[in-house]
Amino acid sequence: MDGNQARDEIVASLAATVLAAGSPEICLATVLVGEDPPSRVYVRNKQRKAAEAGLQSRHVELSSAATQSEVEAVVAELAGDPAVHGILVQLPLPDGLDAERVLDLIPPEKDVDGLTERSMGRLVRGRPGLVPCTPLGVMRLLERYQVPTVGRRAVVVGRSTLVGLPMALLLAQKGADATVTLAHSRTADMVAVCAEADIIVAAAGQAKMITAAHVRPGAAVIDVGISRSEAGIVGDVDFDAVEPVAGWITPMPGGTGPMTIACLLENTVTAARLQGVRV
Ligand code: NDP
Repeated sequence: MDGNQARDEIVASLAATVLAAGSPEICLATVLVGEDPPSRVYVRNKQRKAAEAGLQSRHVELSSAATQSEVEAVVAELAGDPAVHGILVQLPLPDGLDAERVLDLIPPEKDVDGLTERSMGRLVRGRPGLVPCTPLGVMRLLERYQVPTVGRRAVVVGRSTLVGLPMALLLAQKGADATVTLAHSRTADMVAVCAEADIIVAAAGQAKMITAAHVRPGAAVIDVGISRSEAGIVGDVDFDAVEPVAGWITPMPGGTGPMTIACLLENTVTAARLQGVRV
């Protein structure tokens, strides 16, 4: 499953949608606090792809010495600015800053990362809203590659509010209709649990933890985990061992990462619609 190609298709489709609507100004604001190099790369990639999709971006950068109230003031201003449709605060914030209090300032209709408690509440309640980008990207990949989900058994490894938990909710929602097991570090006999699955989403951040023994022949294996090693980025899936067994598999890198960005842009257009932009 080629995440770069699927991302390019989504970006091109968004660009066509924006153009067909007469190119209304839709703005994604990113807030970066501190000097974390990977965060800087993510933000730059997001801005580049936003431009390709016909979206504007605004970027606010604060030093790692920024105080809680300085960060909150920036986010509050973006929240109140009608020209800004989506707000993304790049996480993690430097030590000493309370991310929850910052996220609480983002109105749900501008919450393009889908991480605030109100967005999560909407997802749980099945109400229209913005869904976290990484799990949404996994759903888009499953759709793009026509992986059946209805009535199928899915195992999500990892239960964070960023990835695993919303992933389980999306797979179990009406429409996707999978039967979902949410596994975590205390799950007993992970091999047996995974070997039952038609779909495995690995989001634990444990390099190569999913081996061929975990995978039923023909299953779809989606790798979300990112570990940095001397050899470069490594996923949660031992790709070389699993690839001959799996029916579908994502590479790492080049799978879920690009889809996260595509879904951020999709969410920005959805956010603009929620705020009355005709697009
Ligand atoms: P967290 O550290 O918040 O959560 C990890 C989860 O995995 C926890 O629920 C933890 O269980 C579980 N876990 C850890 N070790 C094991 C294990 N040995 N067996 C089973 N479960 C385990 O991480 P995130 O959810 O934020 O991120 C997960 C991974 O996805 C990370 O590697 C991150 O870098 C990556 N990521 C990738 C993205 C992409 O675009 N591809 C985007 C976002 C994140 P417990 O709750 O019991 O501690």
